Amino acid sequence: MTALRIGQGSLEKRSVFINMVMEGTIAHERTQNKSDNFINTWHKSNITAARKASMRYHKVPDETIKRLPIYLRRAIQLSKSGAKCVSSAELASLLGVSPWQIRKDLSYFGGLGTRGVGYNVDRLVNHIREILKLDVIQKAALVGVGNLGSAILAFPGFLPFGLEIAAAFDIDKRKVGKKCNGLIVEDIERLGTLRKRDITLGIIAVPGDAAQNIANELVEAGIKAILNLAPRYIEVPKRIKVITIDIALYLARLPYYIP
Ligand code: NAD
Repeated sequence: MTALRIGQGSLEKRSVFINMVMEGTIAHERTQNKSDNFINTWHKSNITAARKASMRYHKVPDETIKRLPIYLRRAIQLSKSGAKCVSSAELASLLGVSPWQIRKDLSYFGGLGTRGVGYNVDRLVNHIREILKLDVIQKAALVGVGNLGSAILAFPGFLPFGLEIAAAFDIDKRKVGKKCNGLIVEDIERLGTLRKRDITLGIIAVPGDAAQNIANELVEAGIKAILNLAPRYIEVPKRIKVITIDIALYLARLPYYIP
């Protein structure tokens, strides 16, 4: 958590906000008594060991990883509201999943709860952040500052997770150099600067026929994982994780369920 990075210029405000969110948990840990410090130390090495073990055996189902941000968001809200503990039953009723599912998901990482007491909310937040590697700020680059791209830049919901959209690119010279929600839109030609700027996530919001080329360029620029919002299958080397989201595909399923 000490490895937080502060952004520059117009990004500074957002980074400071994330710092405050994260510092809140650091401050909490610093006020723990001696025995709690021991537990924290044990707990931290336990998480690291659990993450390493899970990576080694590749046994954590994708479905579990999908649910972790849902647990994290609720745990952050509970922490902000001053809650100290939450049982898996309470958490489950807030999220519409079963308590068994929550216990099972967290058990892949060594569990966390205490029987009859539940989960310490702040530790749960830290634990899930570390599992998801959100305990350091993860920087993303957005490509395509159109309708969707602009809405993404305006969306404040990434910050509580420790995600920062640190750069935005477009091919349209009329957009390049203009400010969009605090970020100067950069020429797509500058994509090659991502590696030295420590930006590891890419978001594709260009028209479908440009998506594969952009994916190739992002990989070339050192991006490690891609959120693809274009309605196209994109092919990338195996080491790169791609998640494609298309709201239309979700919406197209809904009428089937109408009685
Ligand atoms: P848009 O036309 O408003 O914006 C596209 C932007 O991409 C433009 O600014 C354009 O200049 C830029 N662009 C085009 N080619 C480029 C390139 N090679 N390099 C860099 N920038 C380039 O379109 P939109 O409505 O914002 O949609 C963007 C994409 O998102 C489309 O593929 C659309 O189908 C998709 N979309 C997905 C969802 C979803 O649920 N995932 C929802 C809406 C739109």
